Amino acid sequence: MFRSRLKQLADRSLMRRLSPLESGTGPTIQYAGCEVILLSSNDYLGLATHPEVVRAATHATEQYGAGSGASRLVSGTLPPHTHLETALASFKGTEAALLFGAGYLANIGVIPNLIGQGGLILADRLCHASLIDGCRLSRADFRVFRHRDCAHLESLLRRQRTKRPTLIITEGLFSMDGDLAPLSDLASLAERYEATLYVDDAHGTGIMGPTGRGTIEHVGLEQRIPFHMGTLSKALGSHGAYIVGANDLIQYLVNVTRPFIFTTALPPAIAAAASAAIAVIQREPERRMRLWSNRQRLFNGMQRLGFRMTQTVSPILPILVGDAATASALAERLLSYGIYASAIRPPTVPDGTSRIRFTVTSEHTTEQIDEALHALNLAGRETGLL
Ligand SMILES: *Cc1c(COP(=O)(O)O)cnc(C)c1O
Repeated sequence: MFRSRLKQLADRSLMRRLSPLESGTGPTIQYAGCEVILLSSNDYLGLATHPEVVRAATHATEQYGAGSGASRLVSGTLPPHTHLETALASFKGTEAALLFGAGYLANIGVIPNLIGQGGLILADRLCHASLIDGCRLSRADFRVFRHRDCAHLESLLRRQRTKRPTLIITEGLFSMDGDLAPLSDLASLAERYEATLYVDDAHGTGIMGPTGRGTIEHVGLEQRIPFHMGTLSKALGSHGAYIVGANDLIQYLVNVTRPFIFTTALPPAIAAAASAAIAVIQREPERRMRLWSNRQRLFNGMQRLGFRMTQTVSPILPILVGDAATASALAERLLSYGIYASAIRPPTVPDGTSRIRFTVTSEHTTEQIDEALHALNLAGRETGLL
């Protein structure tokens, strides 16, 4: 019964609760009657509230309506969808792009159409739940390799005696650890073993790479990784997801992907907002500069205080706590000092690796970052972590 399962979750400090805010998102939010500094959002460049992005959404709603009416294969593709797909393909340097209602939908829809029964999937152990669910839906054999461990991956590839379709799955920038996949080695292994490489760049898109095109640009592999997936819901400040790649891949996905075919198209406002966000990313590189300097300030401060952290190289700055109860306690203490940063516990992360996952944005001020470090010093001592 669900009540006993709920009680089990509470007993193990794994209960999740919704936190109703009294404001929109931003570097600070209103919560429980107070203004607090938000260090948990994936809106890395503050684009969710950028005036140009908001104006694009408002304008598209006025011009095209609040909803899109039906699946695009039923009632047609609206101009904001066409415009966004063209903008994405051009931003990413691919022939084509296809939009999805969410990253979750893209992953569970696309993976089972790239591989099926009789095939083999090898996925990084820390892949996002939507990737794992896509693997399960595919009915292919599914194994995980140790996080970022290409030697382990190769041993799994070499173990195959008969040749069969193989898909290697990784995130570009890992969402819960903030470290990067070894994309160059993964691409080489995929080439050597004739496997397909599927990269989910939900967190890299907009922030990584010299022009913000993402993790694949960051490592200079755009020629060797012909397609990938990403989301519009993190640095792009909007909602939804995409696959970018060759025309024939996109044509195929339009025909077979159930979470594309059997779901209503993104609202016009959402698509227009994402297009505006891509334009801002290209025109305002100073946002990325501010993001990286804020990231460095918070990271240096956390290191100085002596917290245990992951191998992060990004604005995702997890403080490793271990058990779920202490992680929850630390999050509560931080909130009492005006810092909102949520505890991430199993099953989002493996057992024993509960953490507070801080994310910093380009819009935080240095004063806010210093205030967070001050709170971390106090809360870290109160919870016995420092
Ligand atoms: C957030 C995320 C998703 C899901 O994207 P949504 O658009 O929020 O559904 C998929 N993959 C990764 C790696 C993510 O971080």
